[in-house]
Amino acid sequence: MSDYSYPYKDAEFVFNELVGFDQLCEQAGLEEVNTELAFAVLEEANRMGTEVIAPLNVVADREGASLGENGVQETPGFKQAYLRYVEDGWAGLGFPEEFGGQGMPKVLATAVSEIWQSCSLGFSLCSLLTHGAVEALLLHGSEELQVTYLHKLVSGEWTGTMNLTEPQAGSDLAAVASRAVPEGDYYRVTGQKIFITWGDHQMTDNVIHLVLARLPDAPPGVKGISLFLVPKFLLDENGEPGQRNDVHCVSLEHKLGIHGSPTCVLSFGDNGGATGYLVGEPHRGLMAMFTMMNDARQAVGLQGLSVSERSYQQARGWAMERLQGTRSDGTRYPIIDFPDVRRLLMLMKSGTEAMRGLAYVSAAEIDRSRLSKDPDDRVRHATRVDLYTPIVKGWLTEMSQELTSHGIQVHGGMGYIEETGSAQFYRDARITTIYEGTTAIQANDLVGRKILADSGEALTGLLQEIQVTAEELIQTDDLSALGHALAEAVTAGTQAQQWLLDHAREDRNVGGAAGVNLLMLLGYVCGGWVMGVAALKASGQLAAGAGDSSFLEAKQVTARFYGEHYLPRAVACLASVQAGPESIMALTAGQF
Ligand SMILES: Cc1cc2nc3c(=O)[nH]c(=O)nc-3n(C[C@H](O)[C@H](O)[C@H](O)COP(=O)(O)OP(=O)(O)OC[C@H]3O[C@@H](n4cnc5c(N)ncnc54)[C@H](O)[C@@H]3O)c2cc1C
Repeated sequence: MSDYSYPYKDAEFVFNELVGFDQLCEQAGLEEVNTELAFAVLEEANRMGTEVIAPLNVVADREGASLGENGVQETPGFKQAYLRYVEDGWAGLGFPEEFGGQGMPKVLATAVSEIWQSCSLGFSLCSLLTHGAVEALLLHGSEELQVTYLHKLVSGEWTGTMNLTEPQAGSDLAAVASRAVPEGDYYRVTGQKIFITWGDHQMTDNVIHLVLARLPDAPPGVKGISLFLVPKFLLDENGEPGQRNDVHCVSLEHKLGIHGSPTCVLSFGDNGGATGYLVGEPHRGLMAMFTMMNDARQAVGLQGLSVSERSYQQARGWAMERLQGTRSDGTRYPIIDFPDVRRLLMLMKSGTEAMRGLAYVSAAEIDRSRLSKDPDDRVRHATRVDLYTPIVKGWLTEMSQELTSHGIQVHGGMGYIEETGSAQFYRDARITTIYEGTTAIQANDLVGRKILADSGEALTGLLQEIQVTAEELIQTDDLSALGHALAEAVTAGTQAQQWLLDHAREDRNVGGAAGVNLLMLLGYVCGGWVMGVAALKASGQLAAGAGDSSFLEAKQVTARFYGEHYLPRAVACLASVQAGPESIMALTAGQF
């Protein structure tokens, strides 16, 4: 057993008051799904997570995966846990019933993923990558590929990987050099991919790699990259894994955190070429990858929340037990009585609540963009998903760097010692701002594709909605300070956007210099929005004498704290945005 438990009360509040889960399910025609069912599912997931997965997290950190004669051997205990995860039907929760999934809304699948990720980031990554592969096949695979591979990927009997990165091609995928040469109705794939998460293991009898590579006639750059499916074992006439394909893990990376997740160097074609099958159209592989990135990027954003929540729960427990102060009568009191320890815990508590609100609201937007009956509605929600995606990925993961660091600080010296586990959360969190596109890449996406491309229309719409909430808060007696702080942050967002629109075309460094500050500014604003709405709803319930008054009062305090300690950062970000690229670009490379 672990001391972690899913924060049901906060999650239920988000489902009911921010997401409108029952209404979402009703509108989507999912009549049998509702909040009651969702929380029965979440309770089961919490049981599985805390009893089976969380106890392996420390083993994963200390022993991790290793490379042997048969390829990668995963962390001891992971195989049994994974088989149970598959047997209990967790892998297909959010996938279409047509391929053996359970067709549950994305927002519920997201909440369940929070549990797996809080229990063990390294373990949960295997499913995250499989999800990516499933999404890619659902959106771009031929009927034959879908029929052949999707059922077993959806059920989790096979796992999937995403093979983009090569030594010379990281953020810049235009430099991908792996090759695929046609041979009959398949292709021979050759090349080396690095940093491939869960690129090999012994938990399942096949691993399905999705690989970016170039055809012989490919034009240079991003427009010449195609996507291929390359199974570890080729399928025999019965569709079962048979002959070994020419793809092998040649080494494992030693890394700062997530030791439970094997990070592989994969070599394709050492013996003549791995057999691969084209996914989607030739030369359009990168576009295919991009269409599934909203999901994968939001899933990594969720990792930021999940690891921060785990770190918070541990810090909270420590702060209640660790005695340091001495009263006048000589008795000692716990460190949670010190204002600064409380400040750290409040940063963690209000930060994670804002992150959860935003992550679930954003997942619900994905649902609405897919399930809404009205086509115009679907487009409207899809536009919001596009805008949220870099913010959810960038802001939540950057926040997790700060929050898991606070988790260590609350522990004092014991936080720095591995024994407490707090250091692991900090180390595990570190990768989240790097993979699936670094924060700078998210910021480029936000600035270029989400703001400049539509001259700020989508963001203006979002900021106007947030301003309505700010005004509602201002009208109240007890939450008006929060309302003013939110309104100032919205103004900062509006000014930052306008500054960008006014200057971006003058100098190509403007967007790159402003991007991350703008992304963080909008993260604080969106977090303030969900906290503001939550505070208003809590007030309403308290006035009506409904709900759990202790939880609702705490929610109001947490929201007020957010207004005092996080929202002013939006104004600081604005100053850095408006400072422009001059001092950033002024030094010559030699002056660094
Ligand atoms: C543990 C781990 C697991 C991974 N899993 C996978 C996986 O499963 N599949 C896979 O394909 N890849 C995977 N990756 C690779 C990961 O996605 C890349 O590391 C990441 O995209 C960054 O690329 P890079 O490491 O080459 O860094 P670089 O691209 O060299 O970036 C270095 C620095 O330059 C900045 N930079 C680069 N380009 C720009 C730009 N255009 N604008 C502004 N700043 C820029 C970056 O933000 C960063 O700060 C994994 C990596 C790790 C460490």
